[in-house]
Amino acid sequence: RKPPTGSVQERLMVAVRIRPLKTDENQRVLFTTNNKNVIIGDYADKNDVLRQKRGSDKQYSFDVVFGEDSTQEEVYEKTTGSLVKDILNGYNATVFAYGATGAGKTHTMVGDPSQPGIMIRALNDLFNAVKDKQDQYSVTMSYLEIYNEQIRDLLNPGSGYLELREDARGRSIQVAGLTEISTNSTNDVMVLLQKGNKARTVEPTAMNKTSSRSHALLSVTVKQTIPIDKRDHLRMRVKQGRLFMIDLAGSERANKTKNRGKRLQEGAHINRSLLALGNCINALSGGARYVNYRDSKLTRLLKEALSGNCRTVMIAHVSPSGNQKDESRNTLIYADRANHI
Ligand code: ADP
Ligand code: MG
Repeated sequence: RKPPTGSVQERLMVAVRIRPLKTDENQRVLFTTNNKNVIIGDYADKNDVLRQKRGSDKQYSFDVVFGEDSTQEEVYEKTTGSLVKDILNGYNATVFAYGATGAGKTHTMVGDPSQPGIMIRALNDLFNAVKDKQDQYSVTMSYLEIYNEQIRDLLNPGSGYLELREDARGRSIQVAGLTEISTNSTNDVMVLLQKGNKARTVEPTAMNKTSSRSHALLSVTVKQTIPIDKRDHLRMRVKQGRLFMIDLAGSERANKTKNRGKRLQEGAHINRSLLALGNCINALSGGARYVNYRDSKLTRLLKEALSGNCRTVMIAHVSPSGNQKDESRNTLIYADRANHI
């Protein structure tokens, strides 16, 4: 099959979104000057929005940087909008939101009814694209969480832990018993995702009252039934494209949140998945022949979508606030590492 796009750069996009400074935060340590860079440095007054780069500042470059005033629509259009066509053509793609708790991941991915996020907009675009071709296409979605390396169905939270099943050749992977819903109402989707999010495992930590300790993974599958031969409409085949949209667990370190016991182990699991994901993406962007997907459930699930000619978008989220500087710096380093070949 012909790849949807050619170069590695086009296959992996690394974006950064800076969330707005909150009213109770008064020191801005991070900003962009041209929507391609992030500058992180010393404290500046909250009102000093025109702050320029100083000698001691550190600068990072990315494919695109969304500043504090960026809109949901803009973020969607520049990161995910163009993937919809690929999915309809039978390719896989992945978009994931990375960053510390409170940095804006869920806002970007889900948002709320007045400011719908990427998951809602992508589904909406897919529904609209197939609206008049119901006999040809089917669109289904599933929503799951990975918590402590265990999988739960967010559309049916009472169903317990689900197992991963791999076919004999290790080519494709399935979550046994996962709910697949077919709907074409964007409103239904918003309700389903918000309900699903409420079912996510949330543990209070010293850092944040509602820190998400789980990865939430929305998978949208588009199946197109087409004739094997244009002149023979009796023998059909199915062309399948899949879009994964992932709201990752908070990337803050276990030690920072003063975690002990159970939560420390949690941190280790979260970091294992994030580390494995980072390693896979790093290997892919470097064009490595062998990439190890086996290190975590997350990378096992994403194997199909991260390998081959699939496109991957990473949106790293940072707070501009001084009291989040260490986390923001860690996030920029993680994203920068993915960015480099
Ligand atoms: P995370 O999922 O990374 O923990 P959230 O998405 O829950 O973070 O964001 C934390 C808070 O900041 C929420 O109240 C959210 O509405 C707000 N927020 C985050 N990003 C933005 C943004 N770009 N614009 C407006 N509010 C935002
Ligand atoms: Mg969240």
